[in-house]
Amino acid sequence: TAAGAVSADSVDSLADGFPLCMQHLHAQLAADRHLRHGGRMQLGLFLKGLGLDMQEALAYWRRAFGAMTDDQFAKGYAYNIRHNYGAEGRRADYAPYSCHRIITTNPPGPGDHHGCPFRHFAPERLRAALHRDRLPDADVREIAALAAAGHYQVACTRHLEARLLRRPGDAQPAAVTSPNQFFDLCSGAAPA
Ligand code: SF4
Repeated sequence: TAAGAVSADSVDSLADGFPLCMQHLHAQLAADRHLRHGGRMQLGLFLKGLGLDMQEALAYWRRAFGAMTDDQFAKGYAYNIRHNYGAEGRRADYAPYSCHRIITTNPPGPGDHHGCPFRHFAPERLRAALHRDRLPDADVREIAALAAAGHYQVACTRHLEARLLRRPGDAQPAAVTSPNQFFDLCSGAAPA
């Protein structure tokens, strides 16, 4: 997606198309008005991939971290956001994380919200998250069983299918390999 395609104001309206990992981060950010580093990286680079440019990202995160002063935000967080866009440090243009990376590296600890719910949530919590996404019981059972058997991306692909089945005429989606690809498939855009 082109940089600038998404504004700070429009992020919330896109959340219905987010995969479970990003829905969770987005909801926790709204609930806590904060996310720890791993969550900021995972969600921040995903939003960058959606087309949120650096200025809009700074506006989005500043607003999301409501209680903080401008000075605290500038000192503690703005640098990292600019860094993700290649405007600081090594000036590398960082890419959104793949599912493989999210599933296999840097597992979440207590208080963290990054990671893959299919890999890192306890079964009951995963089922509750799927129910919140308005999936029928049969789909929730099947997807939770795939996750319990270690088929995390297959479970996520089934989640995508269950969402798309709400829209008659949608074709069978490709296997999910990244949160950005999930979003593109869910929103009907060309696969990433
Ligand atoms: Fe996110 Fe990938 Fe896990 Fe799906 S499989 S929830 S897109 S990390």
